[in-house]
Amino acid sequence: MRIVMLGPPGSGKGTYASRLSPTLGIPHISTGDIFREEIKKGTELGAIAESYLKDGQLVPDNIVMDVVKERLKREDARKGFIFDGFPRTIEQADSFEKISKIDKVINIVVSDEIVIKRLSSRRQCSKCGAIYNILFLKTKKEGVCDKCGGSIYQRKDDTIEVIKERLEVYKKQTQPLINYYKKKNPLR
Ligand SMILES: [Zn+2]
Repeated sequence: MRIVMLGPPGSGKGTYASRLSPTLGIPHISTGDIFREEIKKGTELGAIAESYLKDGQLVPDNIVMDVVKERLKREDARKGFIFDGFPRTIEQADSFEKISKIDKVINIVVSDEIVIKRLSSRRQCSKCGAIYNILFLKTKKEGVCDKCGGSIYQRKDDTIEVIKERLEVYKKQTQPLINYYKKKNPLR
């Protein structure tokens, strides 16, 4: 099964994808996670990605496509995949069509208001990456990860100004994909 998840930042597509992945026996591929991992490792790719992501902008299409092609070469992606955060633009969708088929596109609909509330209260563990939320999913001890004791921080792209910018970018560049896939694939 080859699945693409669409939806604004904060719609929960990553959470749904990570839950579907073991059920369907296919990998959850988040391009955002791949870039964050590269940033953490301090690679050249990470530095390029960070220069866009910190302001809420999209990483350029050619870089994203290289990362996706590399990831799809791995053994676990033979039976399929769940993409979360890709494709983000019509250009990426066109390029992707040349290298893979898609069986289902799932679009998650969430209002801006909820996205802003959810994301601005989201926190992450600096050590193990666990996700918390100061409104909905608090740590037992303030600022300390329940799982590993690491310190909790707010991602740079989860501040209100950057969230608003991310929503604008989503509407301009990613929302057109909904019509694109409506015409070509079973959109749910
Ligand atoms: Zn942790």
